[in-house]
Amino acid sequence: MSIIHILSESVANKIAAGEVVERPASVVKELLENSLDAGANRVEISVESGGKRRIRIVDDGQGMTHDDALLAFERHATSKIQSAEDLFEISTLGFRGEALPSIAAVSRLVLETRHASENSGTRVEINGGRLRDVKEVAWPQGTSIEVRDLFYATPARRKFLKSESTELGHVATLVTHYALAHPEKGFVLSSLTNTILQVSPVANHRERLYQVMGGQTLDQLLEMTPVERRVPMVPLPESGEPEEAAGEPPIIRVEGFVSRPEIQKLNRNNIYFFVNRRLVRDRLILHAITEAFRNILPSGVFPVALIFLEIPPSEVDVNVHPSKTEVRFRHGTFVHDLVRDSIRQTLLATRPVASFPVPKSAPPASLEVEAADVADALAEGPQRSATMPDFPARPATAAARPEFRLAPPRLEPRPQRLPLDSVLSPYAAAAMPGTIHVESPPAEESAIRAPRELPLDLQPLGQVQDSFIVAVNSEGLWIVDQHAAHERVLFDRHVRRRQEKKVEVQRLLMPIIVQLKPEQQATYQAIAEELAANGFEVEPFGQRTVAIKAAPADLPAEEVEKLMAEILDGVTREGAAISLDELRGKIAASISCHAAIKINMPLVHNKMDWLLQALGQADCPMTCPHGRPTVLRYGTKDLMKAFKRI
Ligand code: ADP
Ligand code: MG
Repeated sequence: MSIIHILSESVANKIAAGEVVERPASVVKELLENSLDAGANRVEISVESGGKRRIRIVDDGQGMTHDDALLAFERHATSKIQSAEDLFEISTLGFRGEALPSIAAVSRLVLETRHASENSGTRVEINGGRLRDVKEVAWPQGTSIEVRDLFYATPARRKFLKSESTELGHVATLVTHYALAHPEKGFVLSSLTNTILQVSPVANHRERLYQVMGGQTLDQLLEMTPVERRVPMVPLPESGEPEEAAGEPPIIRVEGFVSRPEIQKLNRNNIYFFVNRRLVRDRLILHAITEAFRNILPSGVFPVALIFLEIPPSEVDVNVHPSKTEVRFRHGTFVHDLVRDSIRQTLLATRPVASFPVPKSAPPASLEVEAADVADALAEGPQRSATMPDFPARPATAAARPEFRLAPPRLEPRPQRLPLDSVLSPYAAAAMPGTIHVESPPAEESAIRAPRELPLDLQPLGQVQDSFIVAVNSEGLWIVDQHAAHERVLFDRHVRRRQEKKVEVQRLLMPIIVQLKPEQQATYQAIAEELAANGFEVEPFGQRTVAIKAAPADLPAEEVEKLMAEILDGVTREGAAISLDELRGKIAASISCHAAIKINMPLVHNKMDWLLQALGQADCPMTCPHGRPTVLRYGTKDLMKAFKRI
């Protein structure tokens, strides 16, 4: 029985063309996808020399018949699609029928396989694209493919391969992605000396994440409540008929994990987006994730996110790029908003309880910003965050990333702990030539922690440098950044009042006359209405000059002019791309920053008490609107430990 066939030329021509065999990891990717498409429950991969010398992958999938084992190496030979229409409804990982011939052309390949319908297996040997040997062998059901000496006949291509450890890093990254996307399957990845990843089948993504990364990393993540939505029926532009007239509207499901607001990464390498269990890079979704974290994370730092989208195959086009890492959604805006809202909801709904150590290495960039520099940071920051983020097409530079050292692998039942920054990143490996990105020894815990929830019984004791409030309760010692804390309180209040259209306004004793630059004038005209809704009363006062007659309450008069300039400049830099929501967030952040208690300001006891209470009741008390931490904690246990009492 033969199930593989050669695609007709017309179908083949419609497939995104291009070479996919670039390095050992791309070979592993294609072979792994084939194993998963073949229904394997367990896939075992072993590599030598980072895969340059040898890659072997063994699966327990359906296997191939004798005839198929030969046909599989023809170009455009596939069992996965038949017609051009099938290209619009791809439910397998592969469909191009090109991987096996491409790999066989540049290596020494041995295939051993048996299909359930046949009594004996088939062994096929191909060198540099030439069939060397075919014979019958005894073989359990399933498939093994060995690829030796990649690019042996093309030294120019071989030269482009990186060091063993870098290539191994790429392979490890890749296998980890597939392991995360397929928790119900078992995976083993080993080199000659180490077992790099070994995971048995588990029930869900959470358990798989635990196997791969360990409890500590999992603790930093919030699990999203799965959300299912029907795609709204919209008329097709051509026909005017409802699009899904033929049947039920398709259902899209989102689930996954995002990092707690305190976790800040310096690049986007920890953002993973899977569509129907395929890891893809997608600007739209990256934007949705950034949007969800707006005013929770500062601009320029990024969350960890693993988003799994299940979508009917007809809703997504994977035939965009030969490596199948890019997709096009039929209802892009809908998917974008669904992802953004699901994450946002998770972030707002979660009031976690435990505390965790402040990361010692690579402190978030924003922590280095002085409170007095917040205005600068704000003027600069949102410009970056509001534009469509680029998903890096190339690995990040080495300078931007921390180094990781190879640690001895831990085998099951003790779960492996792979830090997100290293093995998981699709881009990490090449950034660190000569280093393997498998595991970093856990950093020693720092006693001072950014807590996750602010209790309401904090007793203020005083201030450090008139800037940081020191408080205590039964849990230990707390240090609060008074400016950041007050900013958060004011921001939440302003946003609420703006929503209720109840922003409090103060009349200024003397109108403030402000000269506007031409671009500020243009921006002012564009956002005048929103400014009014935020408590500004502004009137034209001659050419390019305005009079500010009233401003949001709480704002010291001397801040009004600066604030206005900051808002106008901030928006101007955005160009036209800024949404109303973004504009509102930005105005609220600016107002709260200028109205907030400054650092180097003595506070009376009552005021400190009030601030701690108010912060405890804020929606997101642990970060300021720019995403910096507001509170640190030195727990009682840490004190005991430090004084060697336990
Ligand atoms: P594609 O995956 O795009 O169909 P490939 O060149 O990767 O193209 O594989 C060609 C065909 O070989 C597949 O369609 C499948 O029928 C068969 N095949 C490849 N690998 C396996 C495997 N591990 N188990 C069973 N069949 C396989
Ligand atoms: Mg394939």
